[in-house]
Amino acid sequence: MSVTLEERAVDSSPFAQRATGEAGRGYEARSAEAGMTIEKEAAHQPSPSPAAKGREPKLWFDGELHDASAQQAALDTHALHYGSGVFEGIRAYATADGAAVFRLPEHLERMRRGTELLGLAFDPAQATEAVLATLRANGHRDAYVRPLAWAGEGNFGLDVEGHKSHLMVATTATQVHLNGTRARIGVSRWRRNPADSLPPLKLCGAYVNSILAKREAKARGFDEALFVDADGRVVECTGANVFIVKDGRVTAVEHRDALPGITRDTVMALSGAAARAVSLDELRDADEVFACGTAAEVAPIAEVEDRRYGANPVTRELAALYARVVRGEETSRLAWLTPV
Ligand code: PMP
Repeated sequence: MSVTLEERAVDSSPFAQRATGEAGRGYEARSAEAGMTIEKEAAHQPSPSPAAKGREPKLWFDGELHDASAQQAALDTHALHYGSGVFEGIRAYATADGAAVFRLPEHLERMRRGTELLGLAFDPAQATEAVLATLRANGHRDAYVRPLAWAGEGNFGLDVEGHKSHLMVATTATQVHLNGTRARIGVSRWRRNPADSLPPLKLCGAYVNSILAKREAKARGFDEALFVDADGRVVECTGANVFIVKDGRVTAVEHRDALPGITRDTVMALSGAAARAVSLDELRDADEVFACGTAAEVAPIAEVEDRRYGANPVTRELAALYARVVRGEETSRLAWLTPV
């Protein structure tokens, strides 16, 4: 099964992850940022709690929970025309002590920076409550969480001022699947948004760049695209950061145009990986390549263009460790979890 590495509306784009490792566990997320195919072994149960089954999904919108299907945006919504919104992709996981959100403050701080740049109203404390309330209302254990702040209805001018700021939070169940395949990646013909034109934050309009790259890579038969800059340095995938492994040493690709990923930060902390610029030649020469992101988690790469990688043993070990961390099985990392 193939997966993509960018964020998309969850239920339409399953991506399979299958990982082996000490814990011999894995799962597939049907959530969607960074759709990419990964190999993992399933171990965890699908996420909707029995109590949530058959219930109308709830969505938090401007201070209240509503039936998700009842909500609509006006056609003169500024963000619909100009991409003037900021989103996040967050995951909640089932832990032994109930559902918990992984690195929620960090996600909301990144979102705050985006909203500040665009002049949108945003209160991280309110957003925290909105995320937790939506997860509780939907009874999710393993879930993908999508907050979105945007400039709403008004006139067709470019000024954000004068448009109402809105905030919504939707959550969708992530599910367990077996036997995913690993991602095959094409080097994008498109360049990544340069940071001095569009800062690497989760600004809605910026994702048109990822969409173009994904479309082009898929048209050439790949699952996902890898952005490389004009000097041959690796940037990132359309919705995930990139690491290489050479002679057992893990290196995080660093590039000013790449989103400073929270999963990347997590993997660096777990692996002790150093971060530095990496050329496409060096990536081709690596023993293993993996992508990582909230939805992709730690995703082994099978191929980059005509370069095929092997069994990715270090990646698999890291994927298994990541799976334990997000589920609260590594006591030294419990501070990263916010109980629902
Ligand atoms: N790069 C891009 C372009 C992304 O959209 C994402 C997903 N948010 C990532 C990297 C990975 O970031 P994170 O680990 O914070 O999800």
